[in-house]
Amino acid sequence: MSKKNSSKEKKPGALLSPKGMRDILHEDFLSYQGFFEKAAEIALYYGFKPIETPILEKEGVFTSGVGLETDIVGKEMYSFSTKGKDRLALRPEGTAGIMRAYLEHGMHSLPQPVMLYYYGPFFRHEKPQKGRAREFFQFGFETIGAAEPIIDALTIKLTHLILEEVGIKNLTILINSIGDSRCRPNYIRELTAYYRKHINKICAHCRMRLKKNPLRLLDCKEAACKELAEKSPDIMGFLCEDCREHFKEVLEYLEIMQIPYFLKHTLVRGIDYYTRTVFEVVSEQEESSAENTKENTETKNTETKPSRESKEKTSAEPMLSLGGGGRYDHLARALGSRRDIPAVGSAIGVDRVLSAPGYSMPRPRIVKKPKIYFIQIGTGAKLKSFTVIEALRKVRIPLMHSINKDKLSVQLGIAERIGIPYIIILGQKEANENAVIVRNMKTRSQETVPIDKLGDYLKKHV
Ligand SMILES: [Zn+2]
Ligand SMILES: [Zn+2]
Repeated sequence: MSKKNSSKEKKPGALLSPKGMRDILHEDFLSYQGFFEKAAEIALYYGFKPIETPILEKEGVFTSGVGLETDIVGKEMYSFSTKGKDRLALRPEGTAGIMRAYLEHGMHSLPQPVMLYYYGPFFRHEKPQKGRAREFFQFGFETIGAAEPIIDALTIKLTHLILEEVGIKNLTILINSIGDSRCRPNYIRELTAYYRKHINKICAHCRMRLKKNPLRLLDCKEAACKELAEKSPDIMGFLCEDCREHFKEVLEYLEIMQIPYFLKHTLVRGIDYYTRTVFEVVSEQEESSAENTKENTETKNTETKPSRESKEKTSAEPMLSLGGGGRYDHLARALGSRRDIPAVGSAIGVDRVLSAPGYSMPRPRIVKKPKIYFIQIGTGAKLKSFTVIEALRKVRIPLMHSINKDKLSVQLGIAERIGIPYIIILGQKEANENAVIVRNMKTRSQETVPIDKLGDYLKKHV
């Protein structure tokens, strides 16, 4: 156990972790590890293969891919010049880097679609008062080279399933279609006209967005803007025939799979590369789950709160957003491909999931919790320590030890403190006989076991 934990030892001006970033220790680490293993296993069964891309990318991957006018890239991205004058950025999201890798490695020549999953840290320079971490973890997956709605449905299903499998309750999908490059311009025109009419009511930030990225007005968090967004024109009336048909089929699959969903016309997800399907997976907080009907989604759960305030609290408020994604058919072209490559993906916000109500940690396989503490007494025993550790490794039994310590009392003290159920004692006498004592700490019963039989004995008794 690190002494660093003690807050008494923090001196002013001491070197601590950067603001919004933290160390992941002890049980917390196992919790992350367990989630990643579980999610990866489910993704594998659904046909996805692992990929890992660099944590740093050329800045252009995000400025071209995610979009310069988005909050993620325009305000929150950590970017810098290297000594060699390259412009690099800490990845703020996973999709653009994976599409970059797909193009770089000519994965279009593989059987399509290419299905990839990933997990790891991402970075956004968020305002600390929002209570958000600047380093956060995502588990995501992308299917590249498929335009069919069944792939959108698979993506939503998998996001839903992973969250369900780790115990999250009351899961619902919020879903929308934001059209494509053919039909969206008509909608943008209508939306811009609508907001121009209300230009005095929108926030200063939205007034700027209106010129460059009008879609983003729909997810502004300012109360007045939110109210306007609820009454804004619905894109459904503007979708072209292909987009409408595509969206209809996605919804049909969700119905067949009995995944509950709500249409939410203000859902745009704030990233330029999305086309057609966008979605979020939310967990509804207890008090709102009773009113779970399709009709009241847009103004969900307003009764329980004072009316003036609740009007401002729209659908997103009583829901905890745990993941989401969408289709991004034009991203490949934005990253330099000569043609569009249809694709769809999703990412889960792991930090939020781990602290969400109901989360039950899947036990990680890689990190086993030791049940045995190894004690050695005397020089002869110390020399044989590695023989014992190696005997256990061969039968995959992990142990804890303090082989730098000499005294029995010190080592016993540690065993008591960590509350370990079994100890192995190697004293001078045992070392001479090539044996150890195995003691059950609860019953205090013990037995002498030859080292070459130790593995088998422990597998049977521990
Ligand atoms: Zn606004
Ligand atoms: Zn369209």
